[in-house]
Amino acid sequence: MPVGQAEAAVLVGRARVAQVAWGARSVEERVAVLARLPEVLHEQLERIAGVIVAENGKPRAEALAHEVVPAIAVARHHLETAVATLGPSRIRLATAPYRRAVRVHRGYGVVVAIAPWNLPFLIPFSQVLPALIAGNAVVLKPSELTPRVAEVLVEVISAAGLPDGLLQLAIGDGAVGAALVEARPDKVMFTGSVATGRKVMAAAARGPIPVGLELGGVDAAVVLEDADLEYVTSAVAWGANFNGGQACCSVERVLIHESLYQAFVVRLRDKVRRIDTDRDLAPAIDDRQRAVWERHLDAARNAGLSVSGGEPVRARQLIPAVVSGEGVTTSEVWREETFGPIVAVAAFRSDDDAVALHNATEYGLTASVFSADTARAQALAGRLRAGAVSINDVAATMYSTPELLWGGVGRSGFGRSHGVDALLDASWVQVLDLPRGPAFGPKRPWWFPYDVGLEDAMRALAASLADGHATAKLRGYGQAGRSLLGMLSRRPKL
Ligand code: NDP
Repeated sequence: MPVGQAEAAVLVGRARVAQVAWGARSVEERVAVLARLPEVLHEQLERIAGVIVAENGKPRAEALAHEVVPAIAVARHHLETAVATLGPSRIRLATAPYRRAVRVHRGYGVVVAIAPWNLPFLIPFSQVLPALIAGNAVVLKPSELTPRVAEVLVEVISAAGLPDGLLQLAIGDGAVGAALVEARPDKVMFTGSVATGRKVMAAAARGPIPVGLELGGVDAAVVLEDADLEYVTSAVAWGANFNGGQACCSVERVLIHESLYQAFVVRLRDKVRRIDTDRDLAPAIDDRQRAVWERHLDAARNAGLSVSGGEPVRARQLIPAVVSGEGVTTSEVWREETFGPIVAVAAFRSDDDAVALHNATEYGLTASVFSADTARAQALAGRLRAGAVSINDVAATMYSTPELLWGGVGRSGFGRSHGVDALLDASWVQVLDLPRGPAFGPKRPWWFPYDVGLEDAMRALAASLADGHATAKLRGYGQAGRSLLGMLSRRPKL
């Protein structure tokens, strides 16, 4: 049953109660509670894949390869790295050697996770699991188009041993997501479009509540003149069209050296035309998504661009399209996220042109660089404004690699999932400052009343800090110590 404003507040309230005991447990204990999760996922592998296929429509191979198997890897990675990442660690205090300090990661409290439909299992799983391990309770709002997959997700994590109330589901449309943000959780993790991300952030600002935003992208494959065309055309044919092109990291743009342009376009057109649409191509999730594809292709045709493919196959499928020609870089297919089986190709003259063309977008999620010279590709990758860049592979594979943190810059949002960064993002850091030695040492010389000895000590300390060498440090600390001792011997007690 869809959730309204009052129910959203109840869900967040229930999560808040359940979180108290969970957040008080150590990271080791929380990891131990969830230790069976990879096994449970494995036991339920085929069932989860079946529900994904039935509800989202993607090929079973993709449900396994891009959702359930990476989820097992993500679970394994977080469970194995959580204690070292989130457990207490020491901070060395160079200017206060008489103290010691500890850094501790704590759960925010209640996290609201809002997820899209395109990877209906892996994306919410990647939001929820690190949040739970970090000590939060979670209310998950999946896309209204994939509620059953989310139900299975909750069942699986509960079956692994998660106590009641720590992971609840809020089924419904965008209004439910908005109601949950209004219910004042302690953090919101949002994955979805830029337009909705803006609304979520605006609503969260009223708290203010911290938000993580993983938004859209216009992934580009940058192909240098020494690249292997056979390899790159296969990579792009897959990278642009897996999941029916409905991925934030789907290759939407190809920037190719002018010397390879013609041959590349011919070969890519041929390869995407030969994709088995029955077996391998996910359909549009709904008619709205399909309408976006049609609109972008119509605009490209009206602008006189060359469009190969794009003919309807069945209700929600098109033959994958390749758009090229003079002026392609000003077209919608190039500038906006198409989120479909469509890729646009443009030529560049030099590495500098390629970088300028790549970065002439406000999006900054993913990219790839293809070259026989890995060092050159790496140097060029470092100049691209994108959160995740792959060399000689399309970036999509990075999302299935649990150690690789994932997230963007600019319009593509901020916050990171996967890697140890996801655990860090799901927690806030508390620093504890403790005495070294006796519980109550000497009273501090900088407490009242002040004396000229304190000023002299500060001057000596400033000189040693500015110099930085060990001998200067010894000299400065010695001078500062003598000034303070002199001061203590003459000042009245307070
Ligand atoms: P949407 O932004 O339309 O929806 C995302 C989620 O937000 C859905 O659960 C939606 O509910 C919910 N929602 C809608 N309105 C509000 C609101 N006012 N307040 C709170 N929540 C709300 O995205 P899509 O589901 O269409 O997903 C596609 C987008 O997601 C693409 O732009 C894609 O690039 C991006 N994406 C980004 C990824 C990344 O890692 N950076 C990964 C995958 C996708 P409902 O749909 O039920 O109305």
